[in-house]
Amino acid sequence: MTATVAVVGGGYGGIAAAKALDDVADVVLVEPRDTFVHNVAALRGLVDPEWTDRIFFRYDELLGRGRVLHDRAVRVDSDAVTVGSGERIAADYIVLATGSGYPFPAKVDVDDSTSAKEKFRATYDALAQADNVLLLGAGPVGLELAGELKAAWADKTVTIVDPVDDLLSGIDFPDKLRAELRRQLHEMGIELLLGTSLRTEPPSEAGEIKTFTATTRSGREIVADIWFRCFGVRPITGYLAAELATARRANGHLDVTDELRLPGEQRVFAIGDITATPEAKTAKAAGQHAEVVATNIRTLIHGGDELTSYQPGPPSIALPLGPRGGASYTPDMGLLDAETTSQLKGADLMVDALHEMLGAPARNDR
Ligand SMILES: Cc1cc2nc3c(=O)[nH]c(=O)nc-3n(C[C@H](O)[C@H](O)[C@H](O)COP(=O)(O)OP(=O)(O)OC[C@H]3O[C@@H](n4cnc5c(N)ncnc54)[C@H](O)[C@@H]3O)c2cc1C
Repeated sequence: MTATVAVVGGGYGGIAAAKALDDVADVVLVEPRDTFVHNVAALRGLVDPEWTDRIFFRYDELLGRGRVLHDRAVRVDSDAVTVGSGERIAADYIVLATGSGYPFPAKVDVDDSTSAKEKFRATYDALAQADNVLLLGAGPVGLELAGELKAAWADKTVTIVDPVDDLLSGIDFPDKLRAELRRQLHEMGIELLLGTSLRTEPPSEAGEIKTFTATTRSGREIVADIWFRCFGVRPITGYLAAELATARRANGHLDVTDELRLPGEQRVFAIGDITATPEAKTAKAAGQHAEVVATNIRTLIHGGDELTSYQPGPPSIALPLGPRGGASYTPDMGLLDAETTSQLKGADLMVDALHEMLGAPARNDR
């Protein structure tokens, strides 16, 4: 009898795990979206209409034997996944890969790609009318969005406000990376207001075109026509049945063993942004988790018991500021300049790897 593996969530980690196990198990990938969303390229997808369609990929070509069930897991027990329709998928192994939510446009908050594309286009139209853009948050998303905005519309003013005193707070990167990013942001005319926050929330919805004046706690007035929230990542793990929910921390992350199983569970694994592994949450890490988990499930299916351990990686980042700007850092290679960053990520935003796994992007259906 072939083992059944339920993979819950078809993001970067889930598609890698599902594909890696397709030849050895009956894989059921549970994913509510009708297309994979390549959110690594979402900010370019906002400012450049040619890119909007390129971030959506159909799941049709992912699996040869397995199936994709377009529904949301509402309950996961140690031996079954129950979805919104009420269907219960009994599984020998479960891989939790439900990732994280983040305010639009960094991540998309609707499941159907037609509505998602409409949202990108409506926000693009709003942005096109705006002269002054306010971004709240100087983490990777705020900086990358600022770079994309300036690369697309050099004449707009872009201001970033963050209560912390420096860029990329809370991540163990060397000062030279921050210094290089600050230099390029300054050169692009992006204003950084750090160590302060707005006295009151903006009066409009994020992404809505409506001129307002915001005042920072340091007394600075900022006129903005539109604003975006560039903070607030949130792991999605609310569907665990009581027996599994003991793995969940207060912030929603899941404790995992070295083999990436939930503690005390033999057949339930977790990968990607939902894990509490001590490292930055990245698509790259999610893919590496998937590799380890697929190897371990394969071993268990074949009756083995020598499982592979996951080693969290050191901090590294590729942070484009538009297609040609930005900076990167890896412990091996140190600080990498704008040109190298463009080659690593900025120019093609890593779509090639996805073409290989998922085929061509889902075309524009407007
Ligand atoms: C703007 C931006 C740029 C980034 N750039 C990079 C980069 O350059 N390099 C890098 O490595 N990382 C980057 N990241 C981080 C990267 O996107 C995340 O780490 C990655 O998405 C995590 O993958 P994941 O598989 O864990 O989850 P996700 O990609 O979040 O996928 C989770 C999937 O689970 C589905 N799901 C949710 N709930 C349920 C449920 N109840 N049932 C079934 N399915 C469910 C969702 O629909 C989604 O498809 C970037 C992030 C952002 C926001």
